[in-house]
Amino acid sequence: MRHKFVCLGPDQWHKLYPIANGNYQSPIDIKTKDIKKDPALGHLQISWNLSTCKEIVNVGHSFHVNFEDKDNRSVVTGGPLTGNYRLHQFHFHWGQADDHGSEHTVDGAKYASELHLVHWNSDKYSSFAEASDKPDGLSIIAVFLKVGPPNEHVQDIVKALGSIKTKGKKAQFTNFDPSTLLPGSLDYWTYPGSLTHPPLFESVTWIIYKEPITISSEQLAQFRSLILTNHRLPQPLKGRQVRT
Ligand SMILES: [Zn+2]
Repeated sequence: MRHKFVCLGPDQWHKLYPIANGNYQSPIDIKTKDIKKDPALGHLQISWNLSTCKEIVNVGHSFHVNFEDKDNRSVVTGGPLTGNYRLHQFHFHWGQADDHGSEHTVDGAKYASELHLVHWNSDKYSSFAEASDKPDGLSIIAVFLKVGPPNEHVQDIVKALGSIKTKGKKAQFTNFDPSTLLPGSLDYWTYPGSLTHPPLFESVTWIIYKEPITISSEQLAQFRSLILTNHRLPQPLKGRQVRT
């Protein structure tokens, strides 16, 4: 039997979270003609250790793959970041149909899905919770997914969804290497923004890969069988500069 929950949609979030109308909200539409080329931005250094991958959890509005983050075994440094940012969890966003579902858009164009790898500043803070509302607290690496051939690494995740059908369910999910979900090209965009789901803290240095990876229509349907849709629409830029 299915229960019907009445949830506040994104257009109502501002009533409980006034920051929803803040100056650094995410996602945004990335306008490629307005991007600033910043030669000072170096390569991103990603060192993720698959031993830190821990579990998969149905959190109601999405599913999270959680990582052990008691030490710096899985971190990202460099690029726009100062110091080490530790991998905490990753999740996806998607839509009700294949022609939309990403949160960020590029010159108005939508992708079918978007992967978010959430990191926190472990040089300055002692936990994800402590870092999550600080301006330099979080960094999220985003990867777009376009419809194409089935992605074997996404399939490892899809297979696990059967054991987390309802909110609050979790299952062991280990030895998954998230770097298998990165595109070949290292080019990225970066800008200062927020979490895209309540509490919407403006604490995120976004790092968005330009090149998408693929996901099949069937795999997207598997995401939807868990939760129908879970993406926020682009928010006003309010004077922010996107750099590459
Ligand atoms: Zn997200």
